[in-house]
Amino acid sequence: MARRHVLIGGGPAAIAAAETIREADPGAEIVVVCADPHGYYSRPGLAYYLAKEVPEKGLFPFTPRDLAGLRVTVLIERVKSIDRAAHRVTLESGRELPCDRLLIATGSRAIPAKAPGAELDGVVKLDQMADARDLIRRCRKARTAVVVGGGITALEMVEGLRAHRVHVHYFLRKDRYWSNVLSESESRIVEQALLREHVEIHPYTDLAGILGRNGRVVAVETGDGTTIPCDLVGVAIGVRPRIELAEAAGLACGRGILVDQYLRSSDPDIYAAGDVAEVCDALSGHRTLEVLWNSAVVKGRVAGLNMATEPVHAYEEGTPHNATRLAGLHATIIGTVGSGEDADLEGIARGDSQIWSELCDAAIVEAQRGDAHIRIALGDDTIMGAVVIGDQALSFPLQELIEAHVDVSGIVAELEAPEAPIVELVNDAWRSWKEQRA
Ligand SMILES: Cc1cc2nc3c(=O)[nH]c(=O)nc-3n(C[C@H](O)[C@H](O)[C@H](O)COP(=O)(O)OP(=O)(O)OC[C@H]3O[C@@H](n4cnc5c(N)ncnc54)[C@H](O)[C@@H]3O)c2cc1C
Repeated sequence: MARRHVLIGGGPAAIAAAETIREADPGAEIVVVCADPHGYYSRPGLAYYLAKEVPEKGLFPFTPRDLAGLRVTVLIERVKSIDRAAHRVTLESGRELPCDRLLIATGSRAIPAKAPGAELDGVVKLDQMADARDLIRRCRKARTAVVVGGGITALEMVEGLRAHRVHVHYFLRKDRYWSNVLSESESRIVEQALLREHVEIHPYTDLAGILGRNGRVVAVETGDGTTIPCDLVGVAIGVRPRIELAEAAGLACGRGILVDQYLRSSDPDIYAAGDVAEVCDALSGHRTLEVLWNSAVVKGRVAGLNMATEPVHAYEEGTPHNATRLAGLHATIIGTVGSGEDADLEGIARGDSQIWSELCDAAIVEAQRGDAHIRIALGDDTIMGAVVIGDQALSFPLQELIEAHVDVSGIVAELEAPEAPIVELVNDAWRSWKEQRA
């Protein structure tokens, strides 16, 4: 009899799992249950949509025909509960779905503001399509917004609001941007870009309360008692994995659903992938959360393969990688580059890896020309990580050198020398490695 797979979630993890199951087992029955009425779309793309750079229809990687080609049944519904003993999930409509294998790929949700007034109309976030649409609609009338938070999403919100000519006050608890990743000098580049966009930056400022009239936002109050009138308050203080279903079903959870290297939860017939999965290394006990699109795809593939066959395919924690934009500047973050915690985040940020919150013990070399900046974290023999802001010509060579752990011991001393020609040295090392492999 055909094996029946139920996949909860309609994001990249669930869709990658569906594709892999279909490839590995052409006869399998696959049901995807997705609570988002917009189905599968690019969440990172929401920022570009908000900034008027991509039309809404450009956010959908799959056409209905692609999904039909996969022979997947998609139900736009919310799963209410999981009955592990009966191998069944119950939807909010009351419908019950039996399953042999279950994947939980429910993603993560934005953490709401803790300040009084957080429930007022006009407090906004950028989590899903409905939020982007809501923000665009509100921007037609709004004149002034306050944005609080760190990481990519806060900067994307600032940029999006400015694209709609809304005046923005940006509050920072300290004076750095995405401070678990960006260095002091990178942070200053972002700051200059924000200032060019006429963003009013408020360092060392806490949101103490949101003030309303007739249920709508009219102002905020800062920690030092200053009142700033505004129509919108954008909150991007981090995300939390959606683990409620798993917890209620009695699955082992930490910050995410705890899974082994095969992405199996504490129940061998239930897998988890994407933002919601917290991968636990059996040997070291080290646990990792990632809120990255590419990682969600890779985890979805591994989980799907194990679900369709036997749990023998291990997920190998790769090199975290994010190509994004920070205040309008192209930026790529690769590998081990963390510089500690971010005071503006309550949890992990979207587009972030927990690895980037861990201090990196490496020699750092940096080069800057205007808004273009390169930072390289050097191990004894390899490049451990890199941040490239502005000109992206070196991103791909660095990504390949880092991911393949290429021995660069021959250029370490030269890289560390004052005024080192970093771009040329890295390019030469990359080219000679490519030639050796050819
Ligand atoms: C504004 C923004 C910017 C981002 N920027 C970047 C970036 O620059 N780089 C990067 O790598 N990543 C970025 N990300 C993060 C990236 O989009 C996520 O890591 C990725 O989408 C995670 O995929 P997922 O499949 O785990 O979960 P998701 O894509 O979150 O999908 C989860 C799905 O599960 C559904 N669901 C939840 N609960 C239930 C339920 N009970 N029943 C049924 N369905 C349910 C949800 O409706 C949703 O459709 C960004 C995200 C956002 C929102």
